[in-house]
Amino acid sequence: MKFSNKRFNIAIVYYLILIILIIISGIYTTIHTQNSARDNEIDSAKVRVQSLSYIIRNDHVDSIPLIEKDAATSSTYSRLKIDLANIKNYEFAIRKIYTLKKVDDKIFFVADSERNPLKDYNVLGQEYGETKIIKNVFDNGEIITEGPIKDESGTWFRAIAPIMDSEGNYTSAVGIDIDQQINNNITDNAILFIWLIVFSLLLVVFLLYKYEMNEVEMVNLKSDFLALASHEIRSPLTKIRWGLSVIINNLEIQNSIKEQLVKIQETTIRLISLTNSIIETTAADKNIIINNNICGSDLKIILDNSIKNVKDKTQDKFITFNISKSFELGVCVQGESDKLELAFTNILSNAYKYSPDNSKIDINLIDYGKKIDVSVKDYGIGIPKDEVKNIFNGFYRAKNAQESNIQGSGFGLYMTKKIIEFCNGVLKCTSELNRGTTVTVTLLKVKA
Ligand code: ADP
Repeated sequence: MKFSNKRFNIAIVYYLILIILIIISGIYTTIHTQNSARDNEIDSAKVRVQSLSYIIRNDHVDSIPLIEKDAATSSTYSRLKIDLANIKNYEFAIRKIYTLKKVDDKIFFVADSERNPLKDYNVLGQEYGETKIIKNVFDNGEIITEGPIKDESGTWFRAIAPIMDSEGNYTSAVGIDIDQQINNNITDNAILFIWLIVFSLLLVVFLLYKYEMNEVEMVNLKSDFLALASHEIRSPLTKIRWGLSVIINNLEIQNSIKEQLVKIQETTIRLISLTNSIIETTAADKNIIINNNICGSDLKIILDNSIKNVKDKTQDKFITFNISKSFELGVCVQGESDKLELAFTNILSNAYKYSPDNSKIDINLIDYGKKIDVSVKDYGIGIPKDEVKNIFNGFYRAKNAQESNIQGSGFGLYMTKKIIEFCNGVLKCTSELNRGTTVTVTLLKVKA
């Protein structure tokens, strides 16, 4: 599948925009999902630890001795441990519940939800290390939360709430560690977005393929229709032309009538040449789009053949073709030689057609290394300034060309432009009325 340059570039731009949008929406969704999942977990941890702080009594925690052997005899200690273990059993995803108490500005672990007596996740009487974090709990009565924290046992959140005593002071606290409940792993999202990108790529390629196919079908239809219509018109026109020449050659006809008939015959010939051009152009149009293989063609051979084509086709107007000396064999350009020959034949035959007798046509070459410019300069009728932009549009003939006796269909340059663009080249024209025209073709060079 080959896309025309312009369309392909537009497709690439659309595709890039699409990818960027998908990536942005992906990043946004990931961040948003992660943030809201985190907020949910934190909120849930807060609510749960807060409700525990209402259940657990401050004086119970406070009264538990911080020395294990003393705690062993404390019924409050064993009662609290059983209560915490039971709560943990019913509270989904809680890893552990622990209690803390403050003694002389230091925070210590007290009983926790480990069911076995005298066994705690954090040893009874062990000092709580992260005093900075916990400070707000005891000093300001705040519930603190932390997470997500990742370790070998998974991802989890921590929440600690103060437990108020009867005088409104916070001397003990309860903490919970909760496993992350919503799996918002970033890699899951990343995989989803990669799939989205791959899917969008396939979609874009598919749409482009369809679009290209439709265009080929459209060109075929248009070309077939035009070719058929022109063909049908050409046959009766040819009959009229022959009929007219038989009548004109009849010696018995009055001269005045003969003159009129000659004019009609000229118009008929013009119409025949127009239908011929349409048939040729539509066939070439179809051919260019469907069979444009990029290969190397020798520029010198193309130009020599094109000049020969022009000379063979036209009556001699004693016009000389001056080809710049630097034109040598071995300069290869991108594009099929027969199509490039058709393009240069069109440009050169225009230069020839619109030039006065005994004038010259200069063919110059500027080699830029990777590109090459071939300019065809004539000293003919030129093109009005405001009409130059229209001459590649197809069916367009400048006013001065129409007013002259020079025949044309307005198809040649349209087709030429198509050919050059399909060879990844550029076609330009500059002109000065009554002074001449320069048509420049830029082609890409390829290694011979
Ligand atoms: P045509 O068959 O009419 O020459 P083209 O498509 O080849 O059709 O050219 C389109 C129009 O561009 C011409 O009708 C003419 O007005 C103008 N044109 C093209 N080449 C030249 C030229 N070398 N000198 C003057 N006018 C030109």
